[in-house]
Amino acid sequence: MHSPFALTVSANLDEDLKRLFDEAFPNECCGALFGSVGRDGDWHIDKAVGLTNCFGGDRTKAFAIAPQELSQAVRRERTYDLVGFFHSHPRGSHRPSIKDIAEAGPWPGYIQAIIASIDGKGPKPFFYFATADLWQPVPIRELILDD
Ligand SMILES: [Zn+2]
Repeated sequence: MHSPFALTVSANLDEDLKRLFDEAFPNECCGALFGSVGRDGDWHIDKAVGLTNCFGGDRTKAFAIAPQELSQAVRRERTYDLVGFFHSHPRGSHRPSIKDIAEAGPWPGYIQAIIASIDGKGPKPFFYFATADLWQPVPIRELILDD
């Protein structure tokens, strides 16, 4: 996959990600992002699908996506491409942790979103493009109003 030249997201994506942050709080939420990747490098995220955080330890500080739920979601959303993943930092920074980057290492070439509330402003998604050892921030060019 090519790195995104421009990222657009559906108008309701922010609200959906905020809701998933709130529903899981104080635990981390996690899930998959579905959309499309254009040949010209234009990426679009249509929807976020929340998946169970099945981390075996403290879920306020870590997450693990239930693998069976992920494959079920990919089958169910087959009109879209799997374009990335998201999780929340309920009380943390909007930046990826060392663990985030290490665990996403085997999944380069995907968007990674972190939902975080910084400066008490409420939850907001931050988008990155993940390579094997680096998450580069991806600015959102515009919101597409659909649905
Ligand atoms: Zn994280």
